[in-house]
Amino acid sequence: MKFRLEKRYCFPICIVVLIFFLFTFFCQVPAYSAYPPEMRVGISLLNSHVELSFDSGYCLVNKASGTTLPLPAGNYRLVNVCSGIQVLDMPGNSQGVFSGPLELKPLSSQSSGQSFQLHNARYGQEYRGALEVFAEGNTLRAVNILDLESYLRGVLAREMPSSWGNYGGMEALKAQAVAARTYALYNHSLQRHTGFHLCDSQHCQVYGGKNSETGNTDSALSQTRGEILTFNNRVIAPFYHASNGGYTEAPQNVWTSGLPYFTSVPDPYDDPDNPPPGLVNFVVHRYARWEADVPLSSLGLLLAKSGFSNPGEIERVDIVSAFPSGRVEDVRIRGTGGAVVSLLKEKARTALGLRSQLYTVRSEPEPRVWIASSVNGMERKESFPELEGKWVASGYTMKRMLIGESFSAQGNGTKSFVPYQALIFEGRGWGHGIGMSQNGAYNRSRAGHGYRDILSFYYPGTQIDIGY
Ligand SMILES: [Zn+2]
Repeated sequence: MKFRLEKRYCFPICIVVLIFFLFTFFCQVPAYSAYPPEMRVGISLLNSHVELSFDSGYCLVNKASGTTLPLPAGNYRLVNVCSGIQVLDMPGNSQGVFSGPLELKPLSSQSSGQSFQLHNARYGQEYRGALEVFAEGNTLRAVNILDLESYLRGVLAREMPSSWGNYGGMEALKAQAVAARTYALYNHSLQRHTGFHLCDSQHCQVYGGKNSETGNTDSALSQTRGEILTFNNRVIAPFYHASNGGYTEAPQNVWTSGLPYFTSVPDPYDDPDNPPPGLVNFVVHRYARWEADVPLSSLGLLLAKSGFSNPGEIERVDIVSAFPSGRVEDVRIRGTGGAVVSLLKEKARTALGLRSQLYTVRSEPEPRVWIASSVNGMERKESFPELEGKWVASGYTMKRMLIGESFSAQGNGTKSFVPYQALIFEGRGWGHGIGMSQNGAYNRSRAGHGYRDILSFYYPGTQIDIGY
C-alpha cells in the first residue's frame, strides 16, 4: 500500500522538480541573440564640442525629428550652446542649432569597412559604426554605436600586445579575446554609465576604434567569435591583469567578497623564481620583481588622499598578516607619537601607488641617496647616506642639495640638513592578481597550451559558451 502511494505521487513530484529546474535554468541563461549585441561606447565625454569628418557614405540625422540634415560630406564642429547642439562647417558658418541628439549614420548597413573620424576622441580617431552626439550639462557627449565584435577589434590590441601573436602568443590573444568579450557583456549588463554601456578608458576597457585594429587581434577575435565565459549559465566577471608574480589571488583577499570561479593557487608560468622545468624562453614580466620607494615627505599626503589619517613622523612599518599567496592583508605604519595607520588588503597598493599587493617592506625607513657612476658602460649605484642633505657645486656657481634617488656631483660644501628617507617596498607582479595573468597566459601559449586550457586555469569551473 505504501509502495503504491509513493508511486502515485512520484510522477507529479518529478514534473514539479523538472519545471523548477527548467525555470531556474532558463532564468539564468543570458539573453543571447542571433547577432552580436549593439554596444554604445562613450568616446568623447568631457569636451564641450566634437569635431567630425565623414564622407558621402554617411548622413547626419536629427533623432528628435527623424529628419536628415542637408549637409554634404566634410568636416564639422558641433558645439554645446545652452544645452543644444550647434553645427558649424569648417569655415565656421552655423548650419543650425538642434536640441539633439544627432546621429551620424552609415547610409548602408552592409558597409563593414566604412569609418568616420572623431578628431577629439581620447584614444582614437577613426571609428566604425554610427555616432550619437547629445548635450549633457556643459559637455557634448559622443557615443559610438556598433556591434560587439567590431567594438572588440578596437579593444584587443589595447589590452594585450598584438605582437605576441608573432612569438607563440596567439592562444594568449585568443584567451584575451574571450575575456574581453565576456568583460564587455558583463559591463553591458551592469549599467555602469548613463546614456552608454561602456566608456573607452580603463574604467571599462580601453577602446581605440579602427586605428587600434591589427591582423593578429582580428584573427584572435574571428577564431573565437561569439565565445564567452559563463558559470552556472551566467556571464562571469573575467578580471585580468598584467602579471600575478607567481600566485593567483581570490577576490575576497583583495576586495571584500569572493566569486566561486576564482581561486588562489601557484602559477609557475608567471613565477620568475620557479618557472616550469624544461620550459625554454620563459618570459619574465618587466615588473615580475619591483622595488618602490615611498618618500616619507609625501607619505602623509598620499594617506590623506585616500582618507587615512597622517601618522606623523614614521617610526616603523610592519606587515601584520598576509595570505597564503604572500599578498599582504594588513600593513601598519606607526608614527613616533604612537599613531598607527592600518592599510588592509589592496589599500596600500592603491594609496601608495604600489604595483601589486604582493610585497615585503623594510621595517624602518631608510635614507635614499646614491652616488651613480659608470664603469665600462655599466651603471653603478652606491648608497651614501652620510651625504644626505649636503650641498654640492654643480658647474661653476650653482649649488644643488643631495636629494633624490640619483645625481652626479662635483665638489662639496655643507648646508642645512633635509633628510630624504623612504619606506622601501620590494614586490612581485603588476595588478590585483585575480583571474588571468596576461604574462602567464603568454608563457602558457608559448608552451603549447590552447586558449581553452589557459582560460580554464585562470577561471576554474567556468565554461566557454557561444553568446550569439
Ligand atoms: Zn567606464
